[in-house]
Formats: sequence, C-alpha cells, structure tokens
Amino acid sequence: MDLKKLAKSLSYPLLQGIRYAYGAIPVQIRHGKTFRQMYAFLQESQWWSRKELEEYQMQKLEKLLKHAYENVPYYRRVFDERGLKPKDIQSLDDFSKLPFTTKEDIKKHGTEMLAKNFDVNKLVPTRTGGSTGSPVDFYITRSTLDIEKALFWRYWGWHGYYFGDKLAVLRGSYERIPNYYYNPISRHLILSASDLTREKFLLYLKIINRIKPEAIQGYPSLIYLFAKCLLEEKSPCVPLFQRGNKCEFPFLKVIFISFEKSYPYQIEMIKQVFKTKVIEHYGHQECIALFTKCEEDDHFHVVPERGYTEFVDVNGENVPITTDAMAEVVSTGLHEYAFPLIRYRTNDWVALTENTDCKCGRKFPNCVKRVDGRSGDIIKTVSGKYIMPTHLEFAIRYFKHFKDIQIIQNDLTNLEIHIVPDEGYQHEEGERFKEAVLNRIQDEMNAELKLVEDIQRPENQKRRFVISHVPM
Ligand SMILES: [Zn+2]
Repeated sequence: MDLKKLAKSLSYPLLQGIRYAYGAIPVQIRHGKTFRQMYAFLQESQWWSRKELEEYQMQKLEKLLKHAYENVPYYRRVFDERGLKPKDIQSLDDFSKLPFTTKEDIKKHGTEMLAKNFDVNKLVPTRTGGSTGSPVDFYITRSTLDIEKALFWRYWGWHGYYFGDKLAVLRGSYERIPNYYYNPISRHLILSASDLTREKFLLYLKIINRIKPEAIQGYPSLIYLFAKCLLEEKSPCVPLFQRGNKCEFPFLKVIFISFEKSYPYQIEMIKQVFKTKVIEHYGHQECIALFTKCEEDDHFHVVPERGYTEFVDVNGENVPITTDAMAEVVSTGLHEYAFPLIRYRTNDWVALTENTDCKCGRKFPNCVKRVDGRSGDIIKTVSGKYIMPTHLEFAIRYFKHFKDIQIIQNDLTNLEIHIVPDEGYQHEEGERFKEAVLNRIQDEMNAELKLVEDIQRPENQKRRFVISHVPM
C-alpha cells in the first residue's frame, strides 16, 4: 500500500501521534545503515593525520574517476577529448589536468551527466539555490543524503547539539505551512519565513518558549530580523511579555547560521538577544564541499571526507594559500556516483588564511577565514578591482537606523543603495553610509541613495547585501 496515500487519509491528531511514536526511535536507527556506518567512520577519521586524510581522498577520487569514465557519457567525452584515461590522474596535483565543471555545463549536458548504471526514478531531483543566475537541476542519491546527515551530526556534536535535541528552523517559505509546524520525527520546529511581520515574530517567540529547542538554524539575515524585533519589543508595556513569554532562552545551546553570507552586525545582534554562541558553516545542495566552524577556534575547517576542494582565481589558476588571498571554491564530491560533479566551480568566494595546527587537534585544512559571497555579490570597478561584500560591511558599522539595506551595481561606474529606513532615520546618516561605501571602493564610482519600503527577497528567501549585474 502507498504509505503517502495512507498518511493522507488519517486525521491530523492520529497522524501526529504516529509521528511522535516513530520520532521516539533513536536517530541512529531511523537514518539507516549508510548513516550509521558513515557516522562511526567520521568519529575516527576526524583524528587521522594529514597524510591519511590525503590518501583517503586520493583513493575515493580514483574510484570516482574510473566510474565517471565508464558510466557517465559526459565525462567519458571530457576524458577522450583530452586524450586522458583515469589512470593518468595519479596524485592530487594531477587533478588539474581535468577541466572544470560549471553550472552552464549542467544546464547544457544535464542528461549526459547521469550515470548509466543508476535508475533515475530512484534518485532525488534537486536544484541549486539559484542566488546567482537561474537555478540548475541535478540529482542526488539517497545514500549521499545519509552521508550528508552523518557529516552534519558530527559537526553539530562539536558544538553541543546532539541526537534527540530539538531544532527551530528559520530559513525558507513553505507552501503547506502557514506559520509554523513541529515535526516530532525530526524534532524540527519549522518557522515559515514568508510575510514576516512583528506579530509573526512575537508568535514565533511564544512557540519557541513552548517547544524549547536546543538550537536554532537559519539564514543570518532572518535570525537577525527576529532578534532586532525582539530587542525593540523587549519592554514591560508589551502585553506579550506581561503574559510570561520571556525573551530569555536558557534552553538554547547554539545558533547555526548558513546558506547566505553573514555580517558581523548580524551576529552581534543575534548574540545580544539570544545570549548563546553563533556558529556558521558553508555547504551547498550539490553536496560537494563543506566548511564547518571549529569548536576551538574561529576559522572554518575544510571537511576532507566531504569533498576534494581547490581554490582558484578568476582565470581558474590555483591560488596559493596565503593570508587574505581571495579565491573561488572548486570542489569534487567524493560520494555522489549517480550525478558526479568533478572540479565543480561553485561561484562562491572565500578569504583564505594560512593552514595552521588547530587547537582542536584535527589535521583538517583550516585555511578558510571567511566566506565572502557568490560571484554575483562582488562589485567590479573600472580599473578591474573586485570588491567583496565583506569589504563594504565596515560601512554599516556606524549606521543604526535602517531595517534593511542593499547595494546594487548596474554598470561599472554606478551603484544604487536601497535603504528601508526605520523611525530614527536621518538623511545625513544615509549620506555618511554612502560616502563610507565609496571610500572603501576607492575607484571611479557614483552612488545614489534610494529610500524604499521593502527589499524583495527571492523565492528561496535568501537575502543578498550586494547584487552586481556586471559580469566578472
Ligand atoms: Zn579545529
């Protein structure tokens, strides 16, 4: 019998009761064998030496390249056109003999990228976030998703969030969820990000007080808005607080932010209101690379069991790992065989720092200092400079009276600064912000201030501080 149909025919309380019963089964058992094996493996591999980790990556890559050559028509052609065979790639250095795979390649050759020995009906159709350009469709195997879960549980464990804990999620719009929904199986409290108003945030405060999640996860821009709203409302004359809904969260262990670029002003506000640590990771739907903040130090670990990651410049040349060097992330997922992505250009840019021995004792590379944004978030100037959104964030530091802000580059010499002002906004403050932005750019550039009522978020609710329409 079709379980989905059966579930639909049940009443909501009965269905929710079944979910609670199923949710009582420990996560390790519910997620299945692939998850359990990977999770156990990851507990050990995190203490391997750098040499052992590199050997592991090379073994996985050799197997993946052989499979891609034999079963994936697109990669067979890529190898043949260059007169290469998988055995020609003997070391991580040899890897650069292979060309990059881009989002354009997936758009053009998507069907040829599916491995012949997989049944497409058993795969999970997925699409990229699409924050730059249109989204791209691809497939993921269910076992890749189990591996992804194992990687996340290890990362969450580093920061004190364990099996059985509850998580509030504030990151996207959900068609079937008007406001919020608690899933007793995953123990996730889903808070819808559509049409966010002061009333809705106060409702979320109430429900968070009731469910008491150990962690919150979401887009930094949304959790920042939530925190800002709570800070403004934190007054004894607001009835909600008189009724005992405290703006205190002693049950919270950690807030996980990700999925879009974060800024220090957001993190400061979130910490101020929720009084807990704020931890960040970088990853994507394509499941090819994962950078997670260490529990002992303020940098990202490049998780070696997820993918083999390279750092390149605009021309695709390898960027030496030096402090403050900017690089695009290129990565090859080690586990996805149905739709392999080899040397995949993510369009995401990071600031690097030299690899050091991390206090935590793991030998993972820790050369990523900061995730800077997608290529469509980077301003290009007349003299050919690239200005990362992070470089402009300092301009926000002294700007208090805004609800939202966005910088748009329409051509090489013109910016529009869109500001949603709050009650205390004054024209001089906006002008000072504009001057600060132009001072940081230091090139031929004009900027125009525009006060707007709202800044539209795209469908996936991801917020962008800078949008550039100038190609890199
Ligand atoms: Zn570490």
